[in-house]
Amino acid sequence: MSNHFPVNRELFDDVMVPNYAPSAVIPVRGLGSRVWDQQDREFIDFAGGIAVNCLGHCHPALVAALTEQANKIWHLSNVMTNEPALRLAKKLTDSTFADKVYFANSGAEANEAALKLARRFALENFGAEKSQIIAFKQGFHGRTFFTVTVGGQAAYSDGFGPKPGDIDHAEYNNLDSLKALMSDKTCAVVMEPLQGEGGVVSPTDEFAKGVRELCNQHNALLIFDEVQTGVGRLGELYAYMGLGVTPDILTSAKALGGGFPIGAMLTTNDIAQHLKVGTHGSTYGGNPLACAVAEAALDTVNTVEVLDGVKAKAKLYVAGLNAINAKYHMFSEIRGKGLLIGAVLTEAYKGRAKELLNAALEEGLMTLIAGANIMRFAPSLVIPDEDIVEGLARFEKAVAKLAK
Ligand SMILES: *Cc1c(COP(=O)(O)O)cnc(C)c1O
Repeated sequence: MSNHFPVNRELFDDVMVPNYAPSAVIPVRGLGSRVWDQQDREFIDFAGGIAVNCLGHCHPALVAALTEQANKIWHLSNVMTNEPALRLAKKLTDSTFADKVYFANSGAEANEAALKLARRFALENFGAEKSQIIAFKQGFHGRTFFTVTVGGQAAYSDGFGPKPGDIDHAEYNNLDSLKALMSDKTCAVVMEPLQGEGGVVSPTDEFAKGVRELCNQHNALLIFDEVQTGVGRLGELYAYMGLGVTPDILTSAKALGGGFPIGAMLTTNDIAQHLKVGTHGSTYGGNPLACAVAEAALDTVNTVEVLDGVKAKAKLYVAGLNAINAKYHMFSEIRGKGLLIGAVLTEAYKGRAKELLNAALEEGLMTLIAGANIMRFAPSLVIPDEDIVEGLARFEKAVAKLAK
């Protein structure tokens, strides 16, 4: 009875801080890889809430885990531990290089913890001089002031006053550029094992292995930001497993909760011991609801069927996109790995990714962009093949419209 006002796109401009510019479509429900808006218009979801909805919408295993936990206990604070957090931590450590887990609520917070831990580790082992953090241009690590400054686009961190210091940026896939910045004062190197926001850029094997070697030479920690690549996205549970390079600290969020907010930082015993009691914390970190859902998401994704499915579905996407491109010559490259796929616009269509995204939305398809020139797809890892085929057909209509 209290809803006597229209809830529409105009209301956003009235009541929301203007840091986002959402589309006119307001989805109200979803099932699998289909979504319906307020007018009951149906969309196929190739966006996955920006690589978050790894099991689509309202996956029965996640709904069951959430509702079961909702009827038990919601929140305790870290004054007490809880069963879902312990179960999730056990499963994460059993299935990765890590011995220890710290829970947060987002990717940025997981990275914030990783960076603070790296600084503390270097301080206690080597002294105050060893504080340099090196990240990569075009990298993205979140929007807290520390993480956004570590990110490789100064435009995102400019305009907020003095920045956290001793942060440098090398070029991705350019070992010489990293080598030139590194010394024994380097505390940590932070990298995405495939740049997502920065344009769906894969590291070469040589680069990934070279970064690891340089870190070893200079006693610097290697932090892999797997917020976008983790939990099955690239066809392995974590991307480092496919690269054959093991980081010292790994961060996970996005798909980890399948749509419920959670972040995690994973590391070894030797490093973890430096976050002693009281050095860091979070009210909601390790919240039972979030951990119960994440446990169900991890259990479901970390199976041969789902991970092999990602590889097979990726082939279907790439073949479909290449077929569209053979007709319209709109893309110079289809790239990425697993179900994180980028389609790079040619010079002739430069700067028109947002236009293509909007055209696709009109055809009933939700997509993503990574900058002004790259279309990005990050669908559910279990998207039915027929939804891929139908979604690509809708994408082709949008491409045809833009090509006119
Ligand atoms: C999305 C993303 C983040 C930030 O995660 P939030 O949950 O928005 O804080 C950090 N790193 C990478 C690689 C991401 O893709």
